[in-house]
Amino acid sequence: MKATVDPDTCIGCELCPTICPEVFQMGDDGLAHAIPDNIAPELEATAREAAQSCPVQAISIT
Ligand code: SF4
Repeated sequence: MKATVDPDTCIGCELCPTICPEVFQMGDDGLAHAIPDNIAPELEATAREAAQSCPVQAISIT
């Protein structure tokens, strides 16, 4: 499982790194970025929660 953040949609609200800092970090551009690696199984539920909590649905989980 991987997560990606659409930079054209993210509004930089910082919610996803608050919920799941192991997968999402804020970048110098003020937007969230997901780690490029596969998400560890124990973090999948939290990463999905972060994606579902995004107010603008900028996070895709594949
Ligand atoms: S929750 Fe959504 S809008 Fe907020 S920082 Fe994360 S990707 Fe961006």
